[in-house]
Amino acid sequence: MSDKIKKFAIVGAGPMGLMAAMEILKAGHEVDVYERDDRIGGMSAAFDFDGLTIERYYHFVCKTDDPLFELMAELGISNTLKWTDTKMGFYCQGKLYPWGTPFALLRFDKLGWIDKFRYALHVMRTKAVSDWRALDKVGVTDWLVRNLGERTYKVLWERLFHLKFYEYKDKLSAAWLGTRIKRVALSRRNLFQESLGFIEGGSETLLQKMQGFILARGGRIHLGAGIDRVNAPNDKVESITVRGEIRPVDGVISTAPLQYVPRLAPELPESFVARIRALENIPVVCVILKLKHALSENFWMNICDDSIDIPGVIEYSNLNPGTGPAIVYAPFYMPKTHPKFARDNAAFIEEVLGYLPRLNPAFSRDWVLASHCHRYEYAQAVCPPGYYDLLPPMQTPIQGLCIADTAYYYPEDRSICESVKVAKTLARTALA
Ligand SMILES: Cc1cc2nc3c(=O)[nH]c(=O)nc-3n(C[C@H](O)[C@H](O)[C@H](O)COP(=O)(O)OP(=O)(O)OC[C@H]3O[C@@H](n4cnc5c(N)ncnc54)[C@H](O)[C@@H]3O)c2cc1C
Repeated sequence: MSDKIKKFAIVGAGPMGLMAAMEILKAGHEVDVYERDDRIGGMSAAFDFDGLTIERYYHFVCKTDDPLFELMAELGISNTLKWTDTKMGFYCQGKLYPWGTPFALLRFDKLGWIDKFRYALHVMRTKAVSDWRALDKVGVTDWLVRNLGERTYKVLWERLFHLKFYEYKDKLSAAWLGTRIKRVALSRRNLFQESLGFIEGGSETLLQKMQGFILARGGRIHLGAGIDRVNAPNDKVESITVRGEIRPVDGVISTAPLQYVPRLAPELPESFVARIRALENIPVVCVILKLKHALSENFWMNICDDSIDIPGVIEYSNLNPGTGPAIVYAPFYMPKTHPKFARDNAAFIEEVLGYLPRLNPAFSRDWVLASHCHRYEYAQAVCPPGYYDLLPPMQTPIQGLCIADTAYYYPEDRSICESVKVAKTLARTALA
């Protein structure tokens, strides 16, 4: 790279955009971060929920999130990372079971002894995988049925996949699920106790520190300022258009969902655009409730029940007691083509409230102190077998335009930690 100071524009002020900006500034270049939303954070952004500043979507940390811990140390906020001995529940066909410990598995009456043994063995073997290339080519349903048996797959996984992926449910890579199983399985104090983390003050604490780092080094963050177009008339980035104004830049790093990129950079060749269009992503509609009383003692409750159309509820206050008495998130994932997606937010809130007496018969409507519902259009990448080869390179055919989004976590699943990791690679690619 030449010694010339370059001017970079970053699309998106989620954790990936902010991290990429930090890396570019550390390399001595100029950065402007553009964010379409009125706040930083993307999927990690917070909002004012009836007087409580809290993320629009739940966030927990795992013991294996090393890139996140390194960033927090760099920003001097390691002390805000807290760990809780969390409990998990499993609501299965009308009954709430404890889950996530060997004792819970032994007591679970929906599986036989051999099924349970195979399940435990599968978790142990998945925990030991470090190279996911072989599982990248394997379909998740085949992998689970082969290792667990048809019955266990049906009892534990089938409905969860249906409610998160609908028509894509059998088109997922085993590597993607394997890393999820491993990440959570390794976040334990010991075999009997799961231990999950949270940041005091939520992800907002981290985001504010990242913003502070950027501003202190002369970077700029523009809110409510979506980049409308990357101008690259000769296959080389020359400028961006923001609110009708053309601003010269040497490079653009996009961290916006990949599906926005073809519109953002119309000069991209059709062959590259086709690779982007081949990637699928699922939106989320996520209900958040503030309740007078705790719903359960669980942080996470998976739900496999034919009459409940959410894959689980997350009682965040059981992870972060500072948000009590009870904060409950209930996510609906569904393709935009699903008829339910067109409903208004009130209908989703109403549906969740209808389910709660099933999870806790004592629940009554007067427990509800506040409710809200957020949507994110590109919330969950669908990662089919062979996904490594499907992802387009970060360096696009346009000189000076590099792209990544949450799909590049693969085979890992969504997390702020992965955004931090991907952002470093993205910045290195842009600087190369
Ligand atoms: C329901 C849910 C639960 C989650 N749970 C966890 C969890 O427990 N733990 C965890 O670590 N992570 C969790 N995550 C994931 C985490 O929030 C994301 O991985 C992370 O926030 C992604 O950050 P990002 O910067 O990579 O992308 P994004 O958050 O998608 O940010 C992209 C940004 O680009 C902006 N943008 C788009 N187009 C433009 C444009 N043209 N110009 C300017 N800006 C633009 C968007 O507004 C957005 O702010 C969860 C996410 C969801 C939805």
